[in-house]
Amino acid sequence: MQSLKLYELSSDTAGLGYPVIHGGLAFVSMDQKPCSTCHRNFDVLGEHALWYYQEGRRITDFVSGGGPIQFQCVTQRVIDGLTKHGIRGWKAYEAEPRDVPRLLKVRLPKLYALGVDNHWGKPDLKASGFGDSTFCPECHKFTSKYRDPERIVLDESSFDWDKSDFFTYLPFGHGVFVSKRVIEVARTERWTNAMFRTHDAIYTGGRPIDYLAKDWPPPGWDEA
Ligand SMILES: [Zn+2]
Repeated sequence: MQSLKLYELSSDTAGLGYPVIHGGLAFVSMDQKPCSTCHRNFDVLGEHALWYYQEGRRITDFVSGGGPIQFQCVTQRVIDGLTKHGIRGWKAYEAEPRDVPRLLKVRLPKLYALGVDNHWGKPDLKASGFGDSTFCPECHKFTSKYRDPERIVLDESSFDWDKSDFFTYLPFGHGVFVSKRVIEVARTERWTNAMFRTHDAIYTGGRPIDYLAKDWPPPGWDEA
């Protein structure tokens, strides 16, 4: 039985001790692809990311960025942990460091942009308040007037739990959701500065999970 809970993945931006990706993760490139159904261009995540070195900041396993595109930059340790524990449905590529002093260049760890490898789920449009809107079935762009969501309820039956531990959804964004298994790996491997929020099928307002807590699992962890 697969877990029916998804967790939103991000980096903890509250603490210091992280390098800043200048301007947020928007420095992950976006490419445009033509839609063969509605003949408009739509955005797909590109394959190029930058991060900006800042002196005196320690590099944690998850590097904060923010911005609308929820790709995280992570260390080699994270990539190794995902691989070792057989986590599925992610992709990663090396992010290019900028503003690095020449003497530091050889000692600097590599960072990788980490995101979802094409495993989409669907919002429950009716429950999200979009029952009267229409969307292109191929590129998921609005074919009626665009409206910003107040909340997004995900249709969890649309996620292919057998194929992936990493998910995202359209047409409202590129947020990254992960299965419970990824949080267990984060705990086992003692990743630093990752943030996992419960969402219980509603996109906003989730509570962060203290995945490194002394007492584990948290109450209710094994339900659903
Ligand atoms: Zn389309």
